[in-house]
Amino acid sequence: MVHNERRKDYLLDRWVVIATERSRRPTDFAKQKKAQAAANVCPMCPGNEHMTPPAVLLYLKSNGEIVKDHDTDGLRHKNWLIRCVPNLYPAFSPPKTQSDQAHIMQSDDFGCAVGHHEVLVESPNHDEHPADAELPQLPRVVNAYVDRLRELSAKPYVKYVSIFRNHGLEAGASLSHAHSQVIATPFVPTIVEREIAASKNWWNQHKKCVFCDIMQRESKGPRLVLDNSSFVVFAPYASVHPMEFWIMPKKHAANMLNLTQTERKAFAEILKASLKALKDLVNDPPYNFGFHLALNRDAENCYHWHLEVYPCLAIWAGFEKNTGMYINTVTPETAAAELRKAITA
Ligand SMILES: [Zn+2]
Ligand SMILES: [Zn+2]
Ligand SMILES: [Zn+2]
Repeated sequence: MVHNERRKDYLLDRWVVIATERSRRPTDFAKQKKAQAAANVCPMCPGNEHMTPPAVLLYLKSNGEIVKDHDTDGLRHKNWLIRCVPNLYPAFSPPKTQSDQAHIMQSDDFGCAVGHHEVLVESPNHDEHPADAELPQLPRVVNAYVDRLRELSAKPYVKYVSIFRNHGLEAGASLSHAHSQVIATPFVPTIVEREIAASKNWWNQHKKCVFCDIMQRESKGPRLVLDNSSFVVFAPYASVHPMEFWIMPKKHAANMLNLTQTERKAFAEILKASLKALKDLVNDPPYNFGFHLALNRDAENCYHWHLEVYPCLAIWAGFEKNTGMYINTVTPETAAAELRKAITA
C-alpha cells in the first residue's frame, strides 16, 4: 500500500500529512455562493469618518502630491487615500500611565494586554482589495504598513508588530471594506519567536541565513509560483493550508523598515499578481495573510522577513485542534503549478 507523506516545516516543529484525495483539484474548492458581511452603513467608506476614532495616519491628496497627516479630536480629514485608525474594540490598548507599562508581565501567567490595535483602511473605494487594486494604490498600502511598523516599533513597550489581513467573512473580516490590521504587542508571539530561535541556531551552525537558503532552493524547484526583480513567491514544502504561499524578498533583511521605493512597488506588484491568481483559480476565496519579521538587533543576520498567505479552503477540525498536526489535501507542488497556470492565463 502507498502511504501519505508526512512533512516537517522548514524551521518549526510542525508536521503536516499531505493527503491528496485523488479527484480533488484546487478548483474544486471554489464556492459558488459566498458568505458576505452584512451590508450596513460602512464605517470605512468616505463620508463616514466620524464613525471611527481619529485617524493616527492619513495619506491625503494635496496638489498632486501625497502628504501625511492625522486627525485631531474634533476634526476628521476628508479626501484621504489611506486611513489608519485605532480599533474601536482593541485587543491590545496603549498604556495610560507609566505604571501600566510595569504591568505588562505581572507574573509568569498573568499580564496586561498593553499595545496597539489599528485598522488600516487600504482605499476610499470599498472593494479595492489587493487582487484588484489599482497600481499605484497598492504601493501606498505598503508604504503605510512600513510607516506604522516604524512608529509602533519605536515605542519602548512594543516588542512585535503584527501586520495582517483577513479577507472574507469566513476568514474573520466582519467588514467587507478593503482593510488590514496592525497589532503591536509587548512580547514576540510564539510562532515568530520559534522561527527566530531556529534561524539563530542555523546561523550559529552554518553562519548563514536559513531563509536565504530556502529561497534559493525553492526558486529553482517545483514549488516556485512567481518571481520578479526583488521577490520570490513559492508554496512552502510543508504547507498546512491548501494553496498556501509565501512571498520572500531576495535581499536579506529582518524586517521591512529599509525597503526602497522600487522594492515596495515590486512587492505590491507580486502581491497583486499572486492574490489575483488565487482569486481567479478558486473564485475569490477567503484568506488571511500576515508578515513575519524581527525587530531585535540580534536577529538582523539570521532572520529574513516574509509574508505568509493562508487561503481558507479547509476547516481545521478535531485532529488539527486536538494535536497541532495538520492534514493538507493539496500538495504544495500542485498548488504552485495551478497558481503558475492562473498567472499566465
Ligand atoms: Zn466601505
Ligand atoms: Zn536571509
Ligand atoms: Zn514565517
